[in-house]
Amino acid sequence: MKVAILVNEDTMGRCTGKGCFNAFNNKTDAFADYGSDVELVEFTHTGGDLEQLIENLIKNEVNVVHLSTCLRSKNVDYESLAYKLSQYFKVIGYTHGSEKGRTRDAINLDKNSYTYI
Ligand code: SF4
Repeated sequence: MKVAILVNEDTMGRCTGKGCFNAFNNKTDAFADYGSDVELVEFTHTGGDLEQLIENLIKNEVNVVHLSTCLRSKNVDYESLAYKLSQYFKVIGYTHGSEKGRTRDAINLDKNSYTYI
């Protein structure tokens, strides 16, 4: 199972991603349900060319894209990003902390079905 974490571009300049990596490495929060076969293959931001980013994710055989918790709280395109990415990948709309955000809950979508999971 190959996983990518996409974070908010502005936040990436100030954050090392420690919260995301801790959650991934300890299999907590958004990563609690993964087994031992999970592999983190990309950690990047969503700025720039989205089509190119999607192409890279496909090339890296990513199965699940996690949109980071900071992206959920700060990026106005969070929802449209989740839906766009779900055309190609399963999408989990947070990384660390609660699935229920202060401003909005995580959008978790099955691949290619627009179905909430
Ligand atoms: S979700 Fe948290 S740890 Fe991950 S990049 Fe954003 S602020 Fe940093």
